[in-house]
Amino acid sequence: MLSNRIAVYPGSFDPVTFGHLDILQRGLSVFDHIIIAVLNNSRKDPLFSVEERVDFLRQATAHLESVTVDSFDGLLVDYVQKKKANIVLRGLRAISDFEYELQISAINKHLNPEIETCFMMTSNHYSFLSSSMVKEAAMYGGSVHELVPEPVEKALNQKFK
Ligand code: ADP
Repeated sequence: MLSNRIAVYPGSFDPVTFGHLDILQRGLSVFDHIIIAVLNNSRKDPLFSVEERVDFLRQATAHLESVTVDSFDGLLVDYVQKKKANIVLRGLRAISDFEYELQISAINKHLNPEIETCFMMTSNHYSFLSSSMVKEAAMYGGSVHELVPEPVEKALNQKFK
């Protein structure tokens, strides 16, 4: 067993929302350190570059000592092992997330049985919130002020002006 509980919180974070940050806060009440790991996935067509996504996350978590932000590509389980962690943190919004998350956690367990996935439920307030919804709203001129941190809001407005 690892004495220092390090969790890796992976995702696209394209861009980070208050829903992501809600899960992070919950995770911090359980884990000693959380590494937010931005997935550099060439198959997805992100709105923001990995550098931009990492930068938004760093700004949003600058006040949190036990959080670091990084990016990775390749297999998540390999990255987790490299970081000497054994926990993957993921958020659940609704039943619709469940099947997908179950599949990923099952394949990760198959690839490395020592790594556990820990799910946390978001607050009802954010259960409708996703990066894609935020992008869609911003694209059509809707306000995302209450959904994302300020630098993200500014960047979205800049992109879609
Ligand atoms: P991915 O492409 O890996 O699903 P996301 O950036 O969409 O990456 O999500 C990263 C993690 O954050 C996932 O576990 C996702 O379920 C969770 N998440 C995203 N939005 C919310 C939200 N509003 N509330 C709780 N968890 C969320």
